[in-house]
Amino acid sequence: MSDTPDLAVRDLHVAVEGKEILKGLSVEVRKGEIHALMGPNGSGKSTLANTLMGHPRYEVTSGQILFKGQSILDMEPDERSRLGLFMAFQYPVAIPGVSVANFLRSALNARLAPSEKNGNGAMPRKKGIGPKEFRTLLKEQMGLLRMDETFAGRYLNDGFSGGEKKRAEILQMAILRPEIAIMDETDSGLDIDALRIVSEGVNALAGPHMGVLVITHYQRILDYIKPHFVHVIVDGRISLSGGAELALELENRGYDWVRDQDEVEAP
Ligand code: ADP
Ligand code: MG
Repeated sequence: MSDTPDLAVRDLHVAVEGKEILKGLSVEVRKGEIHALMGPNGSGKSTLANTLMGHPRYEVTSGQILFKGQSILDMEPDERSRLGLFMAFQYPVAIPGVSVANFLRSALNARLAPSEKNGNGAMPRKKGIGPKEFRTLLKEQMGLLRMDETFAGRYLNDGFSGGEKKRAEILQMAILRPEIAIMDETDSGLDIDALRIVSEGVNALAGPHMGVLVITHYQRILDYIKPHFVHVIVDGRISLSGGAELALELENRGYDWVRDQDEVEAP
């Protein structure tokens, strides 16, 4: 764990369609750390995730997002990805006709491409990873994650179950090897099977070379992932941070007492 945070969010204010949603949120994530961001519905969790990845609808009105010391506010999502930031999407799209393997190879080559601009966008100059080399990597990672090899041949998210979508997401993370991964979990409908897949994936991949920010409404996921830090977001800012024990306290007491505490402590 280094001194400079790999991801530093400082006093971030974000507006969506003119309405302020994030109201001074700060958080730091380093490689080797697992952070959980928890909070009630509508508190701004997905807004943070979307803003970090550079979704155009989320307007940063003030504050900073630094990745490895560099501001990423003016960067496009693909540039952020090339730098080593990864976001698992809450609602992945199906791409019939494109296999999981082909999709992952394209994604990896895009990640490896030099970021120089060429006309309308960044163009990969090199060939990237070759098919044979990629197959070896894919096989190795699928083995690590204990995935069936036939999975790579299926069309991406086409008829996938919730659990299989999560599997595709985790595999993408394993192949792209981000330095910081952000996982925004659905607030509902994440069944136990999907939850287990995500958790096992995070546990297998998190380590000294990767930091993770797991965003979740429910405490359940934390039965499987043990975070080093837990942050509670209420009304667009983090009102409480602590260790894994904080998640347990939230499970027992809900979010209301954090809200109350916020009122007491507010100037
Ligand atoms: P959470 O993920 O914590 O449930 P969100 O970040 O999704 O919360 O939403 C926080 C608030 O911002 C909500 O009031 C929501 O209606 C609003 N919001 C978020 N994204 C959008 C959007 N794309 N368009 C309009 N309002 C949005
Ligand atoms: Mg959300």
